[in-house]
Amino acid sequence: MDLGIAGKWALVCGASKGLGFGCAKALVQEGVNVVINARGAEALQAAAEQLQALNTSVQVLTVACDITQPEGRAAVFSVPSGPGKDFDIVVTNAGGPPPGDFRDWERADWIKAVDANMLTPIELIKATVDGMAARGFGRIVNITSSAVKAPIDILGLSNGARTGLTGFVAGLARSGIAAKGVTINNLLPGKFDTDRLATTFKAAAAKSGKELEDIRKAQSAQIPARRFGTPDEFGAICAFLCSQQAGYMTGQNILPDGGLYIGTF
Ligand code: NAD
Repeated sequence: MDLGIAGKWALVCGASKGLGFGCAKALVQEGVNVVINARGAEALQAAAEQLQALNTSVQVLTVACDITQPEGRAAVFSVPSGPGKDFDIVVTNAGGPPPGDFRDWERADWIKAVDANMLTPIELIKATVDGMAARGFGRIVNITSSAVKAPIDILGLSNGARTGLTGFVAGLARSGIAAKGVTINNLLPGKFDTDRLATTFKAAAAKSGKELEDIRKAQSAQIPARRFGTPDEFGAICAFLCSQQAGYMTGQNILPDGGLYIGTF
């Protein structure tokens, strides 16, 4: 299926690897020009080369910066040869907050989580959404977490901050921008095979004294699909949400999780 978005410009954050990279890959394969961002310049450059090799007819620009900082966001909106703030597609993403016990978290821990996983996406939306509406087309996809729908006890910072974003988006998506061709949806990853998941399993292995492979097996056995998702699968869903065909779908929370969430709705 031709998604009808070739030639458009996308900003994909946290895209040197993992889910962000999966989204950038799917968009580049659809002929979308991308500005990709991550903190580490070397990994970002390597990712850009891989993306460019997939489609030599699109532009792949990189901005190595921390997207949770105002300077980082200013940098992605002023990258030479980029579209400025005139992105057609924005995929918001940044690292998730650390696990822990809420009794140990100070105000600064909460502010950091809210900054990264709620206020940063809102700032990116604020900078781009009115331009999208004026041009009559826009797609915003926030990478959040299955924890928004089914909270994970040790990820209280993530449960809280991301749910704040979800509530905000629910209102904004249904405001005047909906009639101007702009959609905003959230993608809630279940368990996807990325470095982030590997880090979580390593921590669990260290804490429990169990073998890493046993932890992986036990975790995947809980998923009805009996496996973890891949960044490519995640990226394909993201690209569809960014398509012309998905224009009537807004304010939704999409949960790719291999059936892990138990609920009729
Ligand atoms: P990952 O560690 O594989 O990749 C994260 C990417 O984001 C990297 O490119 C990293 O450089 C970049 N990044 C991190 N912080 C950044 C910042 N401040 N500024 C710019 N770039 C930054 O992680 P992932 O598995 O792809 O996860 C992406 C998001 O999805 C995270 O917020 C994570 O918590 C969430 N999530 C992932 C899973 C999963 O199963 N993988 C499940 C639920 C939620």
